[in-house]
Order: sequence, then C-alpha cells, then structure tokens
Amino acid sequence: MSTQVPQDILDGLTDVPMPRLPSDRAAAEQVQLEGLPLPVYRTGCLIVGSGAAGLRAAVELARRGVQTAIASQSAWGGTSACSGSDKQTIHTAQVAHSGDDLHALAAAIGAGGAMDADTAYVEAVGSVRAMASLQYLGLPLPQDHLGGTLRYQTDHDTVGRATSCGPRTSRLMVRVLADEALRLGVPMMNQTTVLRLIRANGAVQGAVVMRARDRCMANPTGLGLILAPVIVLAAGGPGELYRDSVYPNGCFGVLGLAAEAGLDLVNLTESQFGIGTRREGFPWNLSGTYVQAMPHIYAVDAAGREHNFLADYYPSTQQLAANIFRKGYQWPFHATRMLDFGSSLVDLAIARETAQGRRVFMDFNRNPVGVSGDLPFSVDRLDPDVRAYLAQAGALQALPIDRLRHMNPLSIELYRRYKIDIATAPLEFAVNNQHMNGGIAVDIWGQTVQPGVYAVGEAAGTHGVTRPGGAALNAGQVMGTRAAEHIAATGQARMGTGDLANAPAVLQAVQAVQAVLRPGSALTPAKLRAAVQKRMSEAAGILVDAATVQQALAASRALNAAIRAQGIAVARPSEAARAIQWQQMALASEAVLTALDHYIAAGGGSRGARAVLDPLGDGLPMVTSGPLDEARFRLERPSDRACQIVLRQNGDGFSVTERPNRALDAASRPFFERDWPAWLTGAIYQHNHG
Ligand SMILES: Cc1cc2nc3c(=O)[nH]c(=O)nc-3n(C[C@H](O)[C@H](O)[C@H](O)COP(=O)(O)OP(=O)(O)OC[C@H]3O[C@@H](n4cnc5c(N)ncnc54)[C@H](O)[C@@H]3O)c2cc1C
Repeated sequence: MSTQVPQDILDGLTDVPMPRLPSDRAAAEQVQLEGLPLPVYRTGCLIVGSGAAGLRAAVELARRGVQTAIASQSAWGGTSACSGSDKQTIHTAQVAHSGDDLHALAAAIGAGGAMDADTAYVEAVGSVRAMASLQYLGLPLPQDHLGGTLRYQTDHDTVGRATSCGPRTSRLMVRVLADEALRLGVPMMNQTTVLRLIRANGAVQGAVVMRARDRCMANPTGLGLILAPVIVLAAGGPGELYRDSVYPNGCFGVLGLAAEAGLDLVNLTESQFGIGTRREGFPWNLSGTYVQAMPHIYAVDAAGREHNFLADYYPSTQQLAANIFRKGYQWPFHATRMLDFGSSLVDLAIARETAQGRRVFMDFNRNPVGVSGDLPFSVDRLDPDVRAYLAQAGALQALPIDRLRHMNPLSIELYRRYKIDIATAPLEFAVNNQHMNGGIAVDIWGQTVQPGVYAVGEAAGTHGVTRPGGAALNAGQVMGTRAAEHIAATGQARMGTGDLANAPAVLQAVQAVQAVLRPGSALTPAKLRAAVQKRMSEAAGILVDAATVQQALAASRALNAAIRAQGIAVARPSEAARAIQWQQMALASEAVLTALDHYIAAGGGSRGARAVLDPLGDGLPMVTSGPLDEARFRLERPSDRACQIVLRQNGDGFSVTERPNRALDAASRPFFERDWPAWLTGAIYQHNHG
C-alpha cells in the first residue's frame, strides 16, 4: 500500500526552524593586555562548537551539574545543522529483523582498518543509548505500527542498520539537543570564534576568542578570553580545505588550532569523497534515492554538446544503470570499486569529465541513455538486486522523476527550497569532499593527549578508513556523552576564580593571535583560501600520486613559511577571526599532505577515499574499450590496516609516527559482581583503552 504524504508533513521535515537564543551575556571581568581591554569570561567546561556533538556534550554535562558554556562561531551553522543527503542517516545498533550483535556492529564500523577496536566497540554499544535518548528528546525517527524503527542499508553496511528522519535528520538532532541545552540553562556564546588554547602549569586554562558582540573602538576585533579548566573541541570537520566540497560554507574545524596546541592528529589520510551539488549553490549529497531513481547522467562541453560519457565506462546499458543505482548505498568513492565495472567508476568518470572542463548533470526526466549497440534502458531489464529493490519500493514507474517522487518526495522539495526544480530541469553536480575520517587523536573517553582537552564529533579522528554511513553522527553522540561522563566523574571542571588573566601564558596566547594579523601583508584570507583549496582539490582528491603529493606538500610548507614571515592582512577588523582560521587551515592542509606523503612514500596503497595512481600498480580498471591504464593504481597493503599515522607539530613542521590500532579483548565478558565496584567507585574512568 502506498500512502500519499501531505505537503505540510513534507514541509515540517524540510524546513526546520531553530530555537531563539536568549540574549548573550556580557563579561563580568576585564583585563588590560597588549593595550586592549579584553573581556574575560569564566566557566567550568568550555565546549567549542554547537553542532550535534557539542550540544550532546553540553546537555550531558549540564545534567551532571557541571558548569558549562558553548562558544560557537555560528550557533546554527556547521555540518549537522546545515548539511544533508537525500536522507541523512544515523547508524544504529540493531537490524531490521533480529536485533544486532554489538561485536558484529563494531567489526562493521572498523572494517576498513586503521580503526581502534575499543573505540569501534564503544560506538557500537553506545549507539543503543544515543538513539533512544534522541527519541526521548523528540527526534522523530520513523517506526512501524509495532514500535520497530524503520531501517535501511547504507554505505559500508551490509545488514541495514541505518535510519533517518529525512533530509534534515542532523538538523533535527541539533534542534532537539539545542532545546534541551537551553532548557538546562547552558549559555551559548554565539558568533564567538575560538582561536587558541591557553596552557599553563601543564594544563589547559582556557582559550583566546574573537567575539562579534565584544567588538568596540578600543577592541576592534572583539578579542577576549574564556577561562576554563576543561575544553571540549566539537568544532566539526575542515570543510573549507577543498574547493570541490559538499560541506556547508564556513566549516573550518580546528585541526590547525589543535596542532598549535600540541595535540596529536591521527588518520588524516582518510576522508570521504562522493557525488553532490557544491556549496557554491546548495551543497547536498546525491546518494540514496536520487541515484536509485536512475536519472540520465551526462556531460556538456564548452560548445554545448552533450556526452553520454558513462557509456564509455560500462559495456552494457544494464551495467550502466545498475551502477548509477548502486551509488545509492555505495556513495563514497572507493578505489577497488573501480574494478570489475563497479560503482566507483561513476565517480572516476565524472571526475575525468570535470577535469576536462565539462559540466556534469543529472536529468530526472530522462532514463539513462543506453550503450550504443546494446538494448535501450528499460525497468524490465535491470540487474536482479536493482529490480527487486525498486519492485519492493513500488518504484517501477517509467521515468526517474516519478520513481523519485514515489520513493522520496522530500528530495524534490528540498531542492525547490533553494530554487532548483529537479522535476523540470537537470541538476549540475560533481565529485566533492564531504567528511574527514581522521582528526584529533582521542582515547575511549574523548580525551586528547593534553590534560583537560577533549575532542568529540568530526573534530575527533575516531573513524577508520571506511566508516559506515551514519557512523559520524552516531560517534558524535556516543563520544559527546562519554566525554561528559568522564569530565563530570573526574571533577576537573571547577570554575577558577584566580588571577589567571594576567598570567604569562595568557599574554603569549594573545600575542600569538595578534602576530598573525599584519597590515600591509600580501597575504589575505581570500588568497589563502584560493591557494589552499585549489591545491587540496587538485593534488589530494580521489586520484593521487606520489610526485604530485610531494610537490603539493612542498608548496604548502612554503605557504606556511610565508604566513609566518609576513602574517595576513585583513580589510576590516571583522575579518580578523577568519584570517586566523585561514592561517590554521593552511597548517591543516600541510598536516594532511604530510600524512599522505608519508603514507604513499612508504608504499601505502589505495584505500578509502583515494586511489594511489601508480604505473606499476596491480589495480587496473576496465572500461568499455578495454583497460584504462591512466587509472592504474596500487592496491592496499593489508599491513596498513593494522596501524594509524599520527602527526604532532614539531617546530615549523610535523613529526610523523605510526602506532598500532588499539585492541579489544573480544573474549573478555563483563561480569556483574566483579565489575560493579569499578562502576560504583568511578574506577572505570581510569581505563583509557578497552
Ligand atoms: C553533505 C553531507 C552529508 C552527510 N551525511 C551524513 C549522514 O548521512 N550520516 C552521518 O552520520 N554523517 C553524515 N555527514 C557527516 C556529519 O554530518 C558530520 O560529521 C557531523 O554533522 C559533524 O557534527 P559535529 O557536531 O562534529 O560538527 P558540526 O555540526 O560541523 O558543528 C561544528 C560547530 O563548531 C563551530 N565551530 C567551528 N569552528 C569553531 C571555532 N574555531 N570556534 C567556535 N566554534 C567553531 C561551528 O559553528 C559549529 O557550530 C554528512 C556530511 C555532509 C557534509
């Protein structure tokens, strides 16, 4: 039975208003530093970022009575609030029919390697609680009439553990968590960019910030201090690192800040790339039903001629259509899926078209155009898995737009909100960067190597090579909760009253921020943006090779040396925070390239997001006309799965080490009487590995 979903229900899941913030508090103290009157704020725990992960940590801390404040560059900005796919997914423990085996789920989370087994298990076990508590807060996850959660299969997931409230799942998560944080009275310092951590006496003491509301004649950039003995970095991923990106605008993350604070960065080689519409228009992933509806995909050259380029890659119409379909749940590019006419040939083909300057479109009013010499497309001639799925979904209509409308009407509504009507016009898209699997290194409680500093959400490098779709949102919820539990249980977050604002460490941190801003420098935020993004998209996208990465690394080191020597000029004081973020992004770019260079130079092969091109490689994609030598790539070395690449800032560069994945003793079973005392006494918080 198919039920027509009324427009007001579709609207409610698409337009998700955010709560009004109470008026922001003014600082109770001020200190005179560097000739500036700096406002000083104090709290027990400072959370940097108000995405789904930061808000989860805030709620869990406030519930435990820890004095907490959130500082956010943009309260309802960031990836959770502003991005999505056709259905944003949250990964859950449980499968449709028979419950789940948490060890099997942990194995699926870590299946791509370079993943700590204890963290994978923590995320698996924590998923049950994360999901139930989101439902308790009002997240409308879909159920059947018996109360079972509706689930489906997503990327790197073989048993259908994903669920979704529609295209705005993560925004809805932000809303329910924000409502709860505000109800609990957590102060939200909006338009407050955290720029540098302050460390003294071996521990974190707070952060230097720029805050729009504190800009004045005497302090034009709004520089200020937030003093706190505990900081949770929940600033999301480095979306601005790439030109070709499906992140919302203005996502910087804090990888550069973390490096400057002496934190370890891990797994920076691992990202996700896939097809979507770019952030210059409306950034959105084209996964799930967008591709399962099987639109016609074609390129247009400078002369306006159309090219049915996928026919050059797949020898039969049925294979061509099936691989468009499979992008639905094999969304991220994966090198080995270029073999055997797999679905990542679609990404490769699109990337090669755009590299030639052609524009690529999806047309929902045309079925895939067949391969010449083969039969035309027909819903009666589909691979068995494709046909079975569409038949079950009742989506065997003649045209892609009708199949899409039937399976997921919200997906059409969503683009209409941004004045793009995919029911009437083709949609331009490309292969884009969408997620950083690596990040700040943390233990099973979200603790970094610096006492008092935690990292959760996309800021933390807790994903291995292939995270299942939805695992990012789940990880943020689980680790946001665990970091809060750890902070509360260890009693570190007691707000200080001392005269720290005048300490030398504070002065040094303020000076370090000020030193970046230099009028008259030839470097500006716009120039840095152009240089960093071009380099990363062209040298560190889905296709990489040793020589190009090496050159890009050298260029990126030179850029950072120039920033150190010349600083960055801003046109107006309100640009100052962005300038520091670009300085830190240039550093993050060097870190990613350092890790990639290390990996490739040591013989590392293709895995996850990237194919390592190599004329001597054993991976050779076949296309319609035969082998595609240009895309010959190195296969992954199994030994690389067992370890992770760790970077730490060292002088003007980074030191690189490798460490084995943390293990989990799968044979050990909790035993109530033996283990209860550790819970009762808080001894569990002393365990920092599984
Ligand atoms: C198009 C797209 C689709 C995706 N689909 C899925 C999916 O289906 N399932 C899934 O699990 N994951 C998905 N992801 C990934 C997932 O959405 C993100 O990893 C997750 O939302 C990150 O949440 P977060 O809370 O860590 O960070 P964000 O939600 O990005 O929040 C970061 C916060 O930090 C603030 N901030 C940043 N820097 C600073 C600073 N210096 N000072 C102060 N504040 C700062 C920002 O304003 C923001 O409030 C997708 C990502 C994209 C781009």
